[in-house]
Amino acid sequence: MTVRMRHTKSHTANRRSHHAIAGVRLSACNHCGKPHISHAMCERCGTYRGRQIVDIMKKRMRTEERAKRKRKELGMEPNKREEKDAETKPLDPVALSRKK
Ligand SMILES: [Zn+2]
Repeated sequence: MTVRMRHTKSHTANRRSHHAIAGVRLSACNHCGKPHISHAMCERCGTYRGRQIVDIMKKRMRTEERAKRKRKELGMEPNKREEKDAETKPLDPVALSRKK
């Protein structure tokens, strides 16, 4: 291919000066105050624009149940935190989730 124009390091660097990726825009959650990605559900409380989208407590309990079952299937020892939870009182999803 023919050389069309003078091409310097400076021109290349100047062009590439706009290639940087901008940081993620965060805003505080109206419900719990934790920073979350704009236009997305809050990962901590499961709300979006003041509405409850996901019941976080239910989701978390399901995930823990699945992990516990998987460990049992594989013949692994239960997690130390799980043992501690079993000793203390069981989690009450209604009291813990702040669903209105
Ligand atoms: Zn929140």
